[in-house]
Parts: sequence; C-alpha cells; structure tokens
Amino acid sequence: MSEIHNFVILGGSGAGLNIAHSFLRYIEPELKKLGETHHVYIVDSSTHFFWNTGSPRSMVSDTLLPADNLFMPIADGFTSYDPSVYSIIHGKVESWDTASREVAIKLADSQNIQTLRYHALVLATGVRTPSPATSLHGDHAITKAALADLNNKIASATSVIVCGGGPTGVEAAGEIGHFLNGSAWWFYSRPTNPRAKVTLITNSNKLLPVLSEPLARQAEIFLNKVGVDVVYNVSVVSSAIDTDGKTTVNLSDGRQWTVDVYIPASGTTPNSEYVPANLKNNRGYVKTDATTLRANVSAGPRVYVAGDVGDHSRGGFHNLYAAIPVLVTNIKRDLLAAATASPDGVDVKLEGPDRLFTPNTSESQAVPIGPRGVGAVNGWGLPSFLIWLLKGRDYMIGNIPRTVNGNNAPIP
Ligand SMILES: Cc1cc2nc3c(=O)[nH]c(=O)nc-3n(C[C@H](O)[C@H](O)[C@H](O)COP(=O)(O)OP(=O)(O)OC[C@H]3O[C@@H](n4cnc5c(N)ncnc54)[C@H](O)[C@@H]3O)c2cc1C
Repeated sequence: MSEIHNFVILGGSGAGLNIAHSFLRYIEPELKKLGETHHVYIVDSSTHFFWNTGSPRSMVSDTLLPADNLFMPIADGFTSYDPSVYSIIHGKVESWDTASREVAIKLADSQNIQTLRYHALVLATGVRTPSPATSLHGDHAITKAALADLNNKIASATSVIVCGGGPTGVEAAGEIGHFLNGSAWWFYSRPTNPRAKVTLITNSNKLLPVLSEPLARQAEIFLNKVGVDVVYNVSVVSSAIDTDGKTTVNLSDGRQWTVDVYIPASGTTPNSEYVPANLKNNRGYVKTDATTLRANVSAGPRVYVAGDVGDHSRGGFHNLYAAIPVLVTNIKRDLLAAATASPDGVDVKLEGPDRLFTPNTSESQAVPIGPRGVGAVNGWGLPSFLIWLLKGRDYMIGNIPRTVNGNNAPIP
C-alpha cells in the first residue's frame, strides 16, 4: 500500500466543513485513481458546529429560538463516507511547526498532546467574539451555558447595555428590546410602556459599518421602536461583575453604569494563537495570497487559508461561499501535481492557471432589528419586510444541516 497522505483541516465550521466534503467527494477519488491514499482529519475544539448567526435571538430566550437548535454534531455530517478515509479529532490546535510539517493538538478527552503530520493543511479556525454566547470559545457546551445564563438574566432585566455597533450588537439590542419592551405602535417612535432601559453603545459615529448612512440611520429608528437608545462615540473601558450579579461598566466619557445585563459585542479576535508570528499580520490574521488563498510561501507547500482567520477575508458567508470553490480548485491542482511529482517531491509542476478569488466589496448585509430590519444586497437597499423574510423570521437555521452535511460543497 502507498504512503498515507494526511489532509488536515483545522476548524470544522463553515469553511472547514465545506472543504472537507468537497475533498472527500471530488478530490480524494481522483487521487485514488492515481494510486495515492489520503486521509482527511478535521480538528475542532468543539464536537458541535455552532450557527452563531442565530445567537442574537437565542441569547434572549429559549422561547424565541431554542439554543439547542443552533448546534449540530460535526460527526453527523460524515456518516455517509467510508470511515477509513476520515477522522474527526476533538481537540484544540496548540502549535504548528512549518519545518517538520506537524501540528500539535491538545485532545479534549485526555488532555494529551497528539502530533499530526500533514501533506496538505487548511487553516480554518475563524475568529471569536468577546462573548462566548456569540461564538465558540472551545467546546460547544461553553456557548450553550453562556446562552442559558443570558436567558436567565434577561428574563428579569430592567437595564441592559450592549456594546458594539456592528450587526451582532444591533441584532442583539433589537432582539432584547423587542422581547422586554415590545414594539411601538404605527405612529409612535418608541414603545409606550417599556419594561427595561436598553442601551446600545458604539465607539463610532455610525451604526453598521458595512451599510450606507441612510440604512444606518434607519437602523437607529428601528432600535428606538423597540425601546433601545443608541449612544455614539463612546467605548466601554472596563466592566466588572458585582457581588449581586449586576455588571458595572466604565465608559470612555467617564460615566459609570451598573446594569442587570452587559453584552460585549464589539470586535473579533482571530483564532490564530497556534500560528507562527511570521505568518500573521499585526492584527493576528493569517497572511494569505488574496487571489489563490494559499498561505504565505514561508508556510511551505500545500498550506491554505479558509474563512475568517485569513487576512484576505471580509467575513460573512457570502464571501466564504465565493472563496471555497477557489480554494478547492487550487487544492485539487496542487495535490494532483504532488501526486505526479518525482519521488523527492521537489519538482512539483503545476499545470494550467490557478483559480483566482475576487472579493465581494459591495454593500451586502442583512440585519434584523426585532420585527423589522435593514440591509442591502450588492448596494441595493432591501425593504424591512424582506430582511425579516430572509433572515429575521428564523435566523436561517435551515443552513445548519446544509453546512454540516456539505450540501453546497462545491465541485473543484
Ligand atoms: C454573532 C455572529 C453572527 C453572524 N451572523 C452572520 C450572518 O448573519 N451572515 C453572515 O454571512 N455571516 C455572519 N456571521 C459571520 C459568519 O459566522 C462567519 O463569517 C463564518 O462563521 C466564518 O466561518 P469560519 O469557518 O471561517 O470560522 P468560524 O465559524 O469562526 O469557525 C471556526 C472553527 O474553528 C474552531 N477552532 C477555533 N480555534 C481552534 C483551535 N485552536 N483548535 C481547534 N479548533 C479551533 C472553532 O471551534 C470553530 O468551529 C456572524 C458571526 C457572528 C459571530
């Protein structure tokens, strides 16, 4: 039997899962015809995929969108494949040695370190938000507990601060405002009898950086309609949980507020601690050839960057879905070339042109705000009811099985 080549994917979310399915369905069979044996490893610190898109609603109450509906075991998506060609490793990638072409993984069950050698490597470990309620911070149980904790606190809250004027902050504030305060009548700008003071704080002079000024203003009007006030040009300097469970928040303008619930929703941190410093930009994102989506050449051959962890990424699924076909095409080219290379592996010759990625820089985003919403596709503003229909209705949870099962995995 020929040597087994490990195709290792770090991160089993939107990016990693799509690549895994494309590889198993379309690339591995072609390599097999050449007499090459490959084994796919999907490494993730969570056993379950998490649909973070739905978290702004699930954090408010299980009655609106049960948190259980946002998770699906990664393993469930792979049962149709021959078990001898893939493995799912539940563990956290701790380090990456580009010289020996190995990654070190801390296994969740035993806490032992497993080293895994790779023939090809995909970095797809994404980013995390400040709150574990809105992104995975290790195993999915941590996120589930964070969502349940917020459900409990929000149920009786009379004061809430959400920090962050991006879509997560705006959606969370909208959901909380709608749940606690209801919605203003047709000709009113605010609910007449609000239960809670809900405040959205942003350090910018505008909400929703991706969307135009008029849509951002419309977002504030819709927030007001569910009893949310917006404070601009202020940031949260620090926060501390008090002994009574409330949170005291210190603001950059010197004010100090104590609230029942504080939700930090500004900014993201790339999950790239395991990546050597020379392969990251100064914000921690992995340096990526923005057209071929291969990692920087100093990472070595057959290393790819997928999804939000790359410095090429603008975030969001529409950019992800545009990038995956490019990635799998270039992965297939490289692996076929490696399979036909001389035994020393040096003279790998790539035939034909690479497939190139063009980012979508248009104004495209959908932001539900309670029963309403703002958004645009390719620069065209969408009416509020369409945002509700497309996203606000159920936060698109139908995409969870589609992603885990790889229904949309592209043909390279
Ligand atoms: C609250 C929220 C709402 C969003 N809503 C939308 C939306 O409505 N529309 C839209 O288009 N986009 C939305 N996004 C963005 C979208 O979720 C991301 O673009 C997408 O999830 C990126 O996928 P990814 O595979 O690159 O990374 P991620 O989804 O971030 O997944 C990374 C995976 O890597 C794993 N991982 C991380 N570090 C390690 C490690 N060291 N070892 C092992 N495993 C690791 C994680 O457990 C995770 O499974 C939202 C994001 C957030 C946070």
